[in-house]
Amino acid sequence: MRIHVDQDKCCGSGMCVLAAPEVFDQRDADGIVELLDPKPPQTMWPDIRDAAAGCPSWAIEVDES
Ligand code: SF4
Repeated sequence: MRIHVDQDKCCGSGMCVLAAPEVFDQRDADGIVELLDPKPPQTMWPDIRDAAAGCPSWAIEVDES
């Protein structure tokens, strides 16, 4: 799995950080998403999928190929 985040789309809701804090963080200045781990271990994939599905801005792209 490879993850990409689009900081231009992100509205800083923080939902992804709640779902997977090991993978997503927010910038201190404005709350925009920061990707901590673009290739997380398989044990985290369910949380990543939840984060992507719950993002109100569709800013998280998950490539499972
Ligand atoms: S859930 Fe989406 S909009 Fe909210 S902080 Fe994460 S990437 Fe940004």
